[in-house]
Amino acid sequence: MVLRNLFIKSTLKHSQRRSCLLAFRQIHHARSCLSQTVKLWDQLPGEGGSKKKGLEELLGPLRAEKFAIPDPQQTVGHDHFDIAIVGGGIVGLATAREILKRYPNVTLAILEKEPDVAGQQTGHNSGVIHAGLYYEPGSQMAHTCVRGADLMYAYCKEHDLPVERCGKLVVACNEKEHEQVEKLYRQGTANGVKGLKIIDSKEITELEPNVKAYSALYSPNTGIVNYWLVGQCIANELRKSGRADIKTSFEAKKFDKTSDGKVKITGGEQIMDGPHLEITANKVITCGGLYSDRIAGLTGGDASKHKVVTFRGTYYQLKPEFRTLIKRNIYPVPSGGGIPVGVHFTPTVDARRGHQTIVGPGACITFSREGYRFFDFKIKDVWDNVMNSAFWAFALKNFGLSMGEVYRDLNKNAFLKSGQKYVPGLTGDMVEPSFSGVMAQVFEKGGIAASDFIVETNVMDGLILNVRNAPSPACTASFAIGEMVVDRAEQDWDWKEKVQ
Ligand SMILES: Cc1cc2nc3c(=O)[nH]c(=O)nc-3n(C[C@H](O)[C@H](O)[C@H](O)COP(=O)(O)OP(=O)(O)OC[C@H]3O[C@@H](n4cnc5c(N)ncnc54)[C@H](O)[C@@H]3O)c2cc1C
Repeated sequence: MVLRNLFIKSTLKHSQRRSCLLAFRQIHHARSCLSQTVKLWDQLPGEGGSKKKGLEELLGPLRAEKFAIPDPQQTVGHDHFDIAIVGGGIVGLATAREILKRYPNVTLAILEKEPDVAGQQTGHNSGVIHAGLYYEPGSQMAHTCVRGADLMYAYCKEHDLPVERCGKLVVACNEKEHEQVEKLYRQGTANGVKGLKIIDSKEITELEPNVKAYSALYSPNTGIVNYWLVGQCIANELRKSGRADIKTSFEAKKFDKTSDGKVKITGGEQIMDGPHLEITANKVITCGGLYSDRIAGLTGGDASKHKVVTFRGTYYQLKPEFRTLIKRNIYPVPSGGGIPVGVHFTPTVDARRGHQTIVGPGACITFSREGYRFFDFKIKDVWDNVMNSAFWAFALKNFGLSMGEVYRDLNKNAFLKSGQKYVPGLTGDMVEPSFSGVMAQVFEKGGIAASDFIVETNVMDGLILNVRNAPSPACTASFAIGEMVVDRAEQDWDWKEKVQ
């Protein structure tokens, strides 16, 4: 140690000395923790392998194209479109892509209230490509998740986006939880998920030395990706087609039927009273995520049904020196209540956030539809929940779970405890705060979380179709959801004659 310090002092400048000592201290700290409890991998999935494009390399050309002045010949009409899509999250974008693929002459507009696409749920999530374990066989979720995962891997490969098929363990800590592992195995197999295997505690330790559990379901086809980047990439494909106009900072606030049977959408910048923006479209598809119920209400859909309740998922991340604690997705068995699948460990791909391991999310009720922090509060949003009987039914039925989530959101130790159940070496000084995401979940009568995607058709005399519920795994499934929505629209709208 003395020799090391002498070497540093005599050969390096002051600033270099500081960072060098800091690095040594971090390594020393990591080693001392390691010798007591945990073993670290050398790398996370995708690190150090064949060089993938960096974020700047990927986004540089995308940004340049986005801000280039469009060729007026190529740009679609300013205010009338064949189709308008409201909501530039991954569901709206993938649906738009599917329409352009199927109909070579159609023009469309995407209206997005934020200054950029993919900024809400699509930009704040775990980034997991789910294999299809959790969904009822025969459901749309099961079908679109399994198909969507294949399409997502293929899309990332085609566009050279970072993606890793790193696999996942769903761990059971005791015999009772093992029953759930067996159920997931049966369900996943029925859904057509490939490569599933139930493994015992010894095999778990061989795959992940820091995970201690009774048994686990191993899913090799689960992966990781950055959905925000996928969204940016789709948006640019749409722009490049010359048939899609992505209108950002355009919040759709009013929908009217015109005398010639089209839909007029009036809107403008969020919060602002003006200036008013206006477009018309032959048909409209809304994919409003956190606001899907309110938008449906504006279009004339049934606002009393499929009310959205929003939950914040807070993440921690492993500090750089501990980020290789695991190298696969490690999930507990589902917590019940129909809301997300519990605090898990997920390595991230090298896009936007770098190679890290995130730990989370919880599922804490929010006091604002965009409640990214605990104290974000909007009276209208709270009032909506107060008046929502399905929400009360859910909260009362799952009182312990709901309160536990609130407590966990506020208390780091309680949060960590959920992870320590199966990664016992995890300690408070290994993690630092990370980002949070807000998820939309529809609750039906009796407080049951809607367990499938919901599409509402025949709104405004059949001119509008609303996507009402698209919770996880809607990112994984997005390309397949796009196919499903366009299939539904084709059935209802007889597009071949009317849209083109
Ligand atoms: C914490 C968390 C973790 C998750 N983990 C995963 C995961 O690992 N894997 C997975 O597959 N899924 C995951 N999900 C689910 C997934 O992120 C969502 O299901 C998916 O992003 C939904 O996409 P969307 O396009 O419907 O919604 P969003 O991405 O929310 O997009 C809706 C868009 O509509 C816009 N909008 C709303 N109102 C208006 C209006 N009036 N006018 C114009 N625009 C409007 C919004 O600004 C937004 O951009 C997770 C979600 C969360 C929150």
